Amino acid sequence: DVFYRELPKVELHAHLNGSVSFQTIEKLIRRKPQLNIEHSMTAIGKGQRRTLDECFQVFKVIHQLVDSEEDILMVAKDVIKEFAADGVKYLELRSTPREEIPTGLTKRRYIETVIQAIQQCKEEGVDIDVRFLVAIDRRNGSQVAMETVQLAEEFLLSSDGLVTGIDLSGDPTVGHGRDLLSALQRAKNSGLKLSLHLSEVPSQHDETDLLLNIPPDRIGHGTFLHPEMGGSQGLVDKVVQKRIPLELCLTSNVKGQTVQCYSEHHFKYWYQMGHPVVICTDDKGVFATDLSQEYKMAATTFGLGREAVWKLSQQAIDYIFAPDSVKEQLKQKWSDLQPQEF
Ligand code: IMP
Repeated sequence: DVFYRELPKVELHAHLNGSVSFQTIEKLIRRKPQLNIEHSMTAIGKGQRRTLDECFQVFKVIHQLVDSEEDILMVAKDVIKEFAADGVKYLELRSTPREEIPTGLTKRRYIETVIQAIQQCKEEGVDIDVRFLVAIDRRNGSQVAMETVQLAEEFLLSSDGLVTGIDLSGDPTVGHGRDLLSALQRAKNSGLKLSLHLSEVPSQHDETDLLLNIPPDRIGHGTFLHPEMGGSQGLVDKVVQKRIPLELCLTSNVKGQTVQCYSEHHFKYWYQMGHPVVICTDDKGVFATDLSQEYKMAATTFGLGREAVWKLSQQAIDYIFAPDSVKEQLKQKWSDLQPQEF
């Protein structure tokens, strides 16, 4: 276990409000006792599973707890420090900017607050490089998507490289990508990197096919892309030809019941093919995991030796949304930390 904790890691798929730890939830509950929220409502423990729909209910509860600038600052700083303590050296956080009228929170202020949290952690000397992806919640439709992209474009220019891209997420059973296509294309054209949740549930083939044409820079989940999961060879071919990396979140998919069990996770399909994959947590708070555990789970389930695990974490550097100079720095860090023998 020490090996996995000490393994330098890259986290590329982490939703801010899904990443809130037990300890931070405790602090939030104390701040808002009138909400009568209990821990069992904000996390899915070991051995427990929920439907994907129930998982989305959990986010609603957390959003009630995190609704002010003050909350977001605390949550973001705690999450960043927890990833750092778990050996994550480079983190891309993603979050959906929310307006909360009762607390005066605006979407712009929301993004500024996350940026502030990143800067404060840097000033405090936390050993982690953090970037931010502005998330589009697919339920909110085309107009909000477009507004979100415009906001992200502003921060792309003004945030000193901290805002690097756009995430498309939210309940995959709601809405259709065709309504979001023009916003996503605009984002791509203005230099924002794109990470899109694609084929997270079955029967999204048309949408996936359409959005792959943009093309995205990375894919979240992609659980139902390949033929064995009801996808198609055509979709797989597109992903392979464009060499689009997949962000894979084992525990999230098993607990959210889109994947039957760890050994049936699509990690195996793509990894065996030699296609770029990155192990991620998705929502470390909600799914009660961390990135070390996810690497360990992948290694034990699929029989990866330590050297293969090291390579997997090292290769993730190639798929980050920060500039080449950052990739070089990280590669240096990895080579400094690499054990003499495995
Ligand atoms: P937030 O964007 O920081 O508020 O994080 C929670 C949000 O992330 C949820 O409301 C969803 O929109 C999104 N999210 C978290 N996990 C998933 C997932 O597995 N699939 C799709 N969207 C997700």
